[in-house]
Amino acid sequence: MSSPRLLPAILLLGAILEPLRGAERSWTNSAGKTINATLVEVTDGKAVLRMDGRNFEVPVANLSPGDQEFIAKWKKGDTADPSGDAGVKPNWDGPWPGLVTVPVDLEIEVVKEDTASGEYIYASPHYEFICDVRLNTSVVKRFSLLFEATNQVCRELPLGMVKPFRKERHKIHLFETREAYIAKGGPPESGGVYISRGGEGDILVPLTSLGVKKVGSSYSVDHKEENTTLSHEITHQLTDFEYYAEGSRGWFTEGLAEYVAHSGYRSGKFSVNDLGKLKDYVTAYGEDGRRGRALGDNLTAPDLQEFFLQSYDSFLDNANFNYGFAALVVYYYFHMDSNKDAANIKAFLKALKEEKTPPELFEPLLAGRTWDEMETAIAQGWRSRGVKISFR
Ligand SMILES: [Zn+2]
Repeated sequence: MSSPRLLPAILLLGAILEPLRGAERSWTNSAGKTINATLVEVTDGKAVLRMDGRNFEVPVANLSPGDQEFIAKWKKGDTADPSGDAGVKPNWDGPWPGLVTVPVDLEIEVVKEDTASGEYIYASPHYEFICDVRLNTSVVKRFSLLFEATNQVCRELPLGMVKPFRKERHKIHLFETREAYIAKGGPPESGGVYISRGGEGDILVPLTSLGVKKVGSSYSVDHKEENTTLSHEITHQLTDFEYYAEGSRGWFTEGLAEYVAHSGYRSGKFSVNDLGKLKDYVTAYGEDGRRGRALGDNLTAPDLQEFFLQSYDSFLDNANFNYGFAALVVYYYFHMDSNKDAANIKAFLKALKEEKTPPELFEPLLAGRTWDEMETAIAQGWRSRGVKISFR
């Protein structure tokens, strides 16, 4: 660890783990045998099902037509709410957001308070908070602002994402203690995590990350303790499943999450496109103890095509640099590329929606340029804003 100031909360935010608890359902094979299991993964025509804590593979073709249909929807990330995306018109053409706000007086609904089972569920307009302790709605109202504001940013970003508009509320699991958070799959020392379930996934957060503290017999919020980098995880949950494909997962998904998380958030307001803030976060040396990637303003970057095509494991191997650099690259495509209208990155995202794969996938992004020319364009864009990038 070269810099002790890079707090683990930042480094570990962003790990996408195995499914927490996908919905169990019954599966029938062509011989008519039925089992109850959870779908974990689909690769090469095989479904990985989990039953009694064990994974096993079944050829998709051997499953019933209903099961095959479920798998097809699951792959598109539709199973949480099969009808939820119907009628949603993705936002491709809206103006780029600047100041994004949500009303501070959100309506909080008490869905369930069950002392016997220790389950307490509260809902804001787009989120369901599933908690292991009872909270006052005034507390939920305050911390839900970060979630609702991030949701609003993802609606306003003209990147064609459907998930921010999903009718079903996104699920957030809250834990009174870090121990309970870790026991349910939260990476130790992380401040929160998004756990993918092959599409719609859950976010796990210890209450401490939301600044929620026990005072006497109830809880209150201390905003100074709030971990606003959680909006990184919130963005992952709202990022369309197609954008996690090879060639995009990593540089784009993490870059986007970093872009949102470091836009500058305060009390229900984001200042999107705050270049100073993002640049400072990526490059700052952190002399005053600020959290940041501390990459400096003179970077040596890997070959761009290799950076885009590396596996997610490889991306995580050099997480600090890769997250920071991905934020710079995404920022370039959003605000500096070609006519500064994000047209090339939008065309790239549309190609992902059409399930295009590399190298064809990159054609809209390159827009006629070679990879070397693309690297030069990125370096020139950032150089004019005070960051020197030398590609290897
Ligand atoms: Zn992430």
